[in-house]
Amino acid sequence: MTKKPFTLPPCAAGCATAQLELFAAPTLVPAEPAEVAEFDFDNHDVVIVGDSGGKDSGATVHEVCTRADQAGALHKVRILHCDLGTTERGHLVEWPGALDVARAHAAQYGVPFAVRRSTLWSSLWQRIRSHGNWPGYFARYCTSDLKTAVGRDYVDEVGAELRLGRPVRAGYAMGMRAEESPARAKKPVLERHRMSGKGTLRVVTTWLPVHQLSTAQVWKLHQDNDIGHHEAYDQGMRRLSCRACPLAHTDDLVRSAQLNPELFQEYADAEAAMGHQFKKSISLREIIERARS
Ligand code: SF4
Repeated sequence: MTKKPFTLPPCAAGCATAQLELFAAPTLVPAEPAEVAEFDFDNHDVVIVGDSGGKDSGATVHEVCTRADQAGALHKVRILHCDLGTTERGHLVEWPGALDVARAHAAQYGVPFAVRRSTLWSSLWQRIRSHGNWPGYFARYCTSDLKTAVGRDYVDEVGAELRLGRPVRAGYAMGMRAEESPARAKKPVLERHRMSGKGTLRVVTTWLPVHQLSTAQVWKLHQDNDIGHHEAYDQGMRRLSCRACPLAHTDDLVRSAQLNPELFQEYADAEAAMGHQFKKSISLREIIERARS
């Protein structure tokens, strides 16, 4: 646990939208209160933090571990990184080193770290090629299949490990922030649902501990607490996520194409093969042309 002093942000009360939606699946039991003011560590067996290796994940790990430590519950916290695998030509879908940054977050706060991958898909690349079209705002199969399902399975794995004799009560923290989009701004900081499914194995509370933080506040948390960040930010990227994400801002995609020319060429070849433009507003071919100009 870091000994450095830090300032808690005012929010005392992500690619994560689909994850949130899964954990808010239709209930088989009477609905829990839609939102509560504070995360209740006493009422949870475990708190899992989804860590992509990005800046919002780093801030989320800090917030969760800090508050857990204050509540005497740091032993309940675990960090999970969902590995998205490689492309057909062997390029990592994520930024190289993202997993290491996530691991370093866990090490800094002295909590267990786990890496898990989809049991159905060897990689996001395989999932995309199987689908035959790119993910989009209304087709977030990438997060639902490669992150949400993996997180759900990890909750079950931890539940089985704890041998509670009842459904595990798990918090699932994500780095989604209101500033990112109007849709995300509407998300509650805490939402407790009993996930549907055979045997009702779990009760999951989704928690967005950095929901109200600005980008500047997220970086200040990193600075004040020596939280590690990925070098891609120093090279001009504003967000980490997948190196080529159809939902990313075009400027970030152009910068990423400059930093990852071989990966983008493979994506551009897939774009031609599938016959579907990568992003509504711009093709990968155009992104690569801009990156070269
Ligand atoms: S393609 Fe974009 S939305 Fe999908 S998992 Fe990757 S970063 Fe998230």
